[in-house]
Amino acid sequence: WDVTCAAFRDTGGQFAGVMISFTDVSDLENAVAMRRDFVANVSHELRTPLTALSGFIETLNGAAKDDPAARARFLGIMENEASRMNRLVGDLLSLSRVESDERMRPTDEVGIGALLRSVTQVLKPLATDQNCDLLLNLPESDVILTGDRDQLQQVFTNLIENALKYGGRNKSVSITTEMFDNDPLLRAPTIRILVQDQGEGIAAEHIPRLTERFYRIDGHRSREMGGTGLGLAIVKHIINRHRGRLRIESAPGQGSCFTVILRREKQA
Ligand code: ADP
Repeated sequence: WDVTCAAFRDTGGQFAGVMISFTDVSDLENAVAMRRDFVANVSHELRTPLTALSGFIETLNGAAKDDPAARARFLGIMENEASRMNRLVGDLLSLSRVESDERMRPTDEVGIGALLRSVTQVLKPLATDQNCDLLLNLPESDVILTGDRDQLQQVFTNLIENALKYGGRNKSVSITTEMFDNDPLLRAPTIRILVQDQGEGIAAEHIPRLTERFYRIDGHRSREMGGTGLGLAIVKHIINRHRGRLRIESAPGQGSCFTVILRREKQA
């Protein structure tokens, strides 16, 4: 609370009363604290690969100077660290672009079936790496809706990539669509796209926090899989911009289902 007091006098200079005003500044303070945490997180995430890079440069200039095998190994690690930084900066830019676009209505005519087909095509090598069957069940004729093609592509890339990374090892991941003429969640005609995995699942206490920036259940595993911790935050903002909904259902031992609900009605 921000408290302000003022004393009043009447025209004769006599004390007439006091005004005390209470302003709730908790939203503002929360916003300031969130920004501070965000900057601290970004700095930490960037500093980790930078520290590794400077360490390896020092070693390459010193102890490993005349050891070709060590040089090759260290250069490989350095390449990984550099691409981690690249991904992080890329995701930060996406996040800030998506946030600033949020109030602008998207205008592309997007065929969801074609989009899902192209995303799964791109992710085939990751599925093969994970020894995972990627199953795509699409409606006979494509569903066209008004959206932002690149951003919707990013939504499904992030969700399917997560399903493969966290739940796909030696299992299968399925992508299914459902149509609603009057979806009870949005009271509008929608298409729901379900991305389901058969992984370890997610404990209830994590689920509401997954779309926070840099929130990870297992930081070590996320980093090992090349994650930045920003994927679901980006997904949430893009879906908000489309006035849609993201539903996350999961339980330990039962896999996870991430459902994207998008409006099919023509945008004005
Ligand atoms: P990251 O870059 O870490 O993957 P995300 O924002 O995409 O960041 O996801 C946040 C966290 O949510 C992940 O670190 C992981 O712990 C958890 N997560 C996301 N998708 C799944 C999934 N399909 N199964 C289990 N955990 C998941």
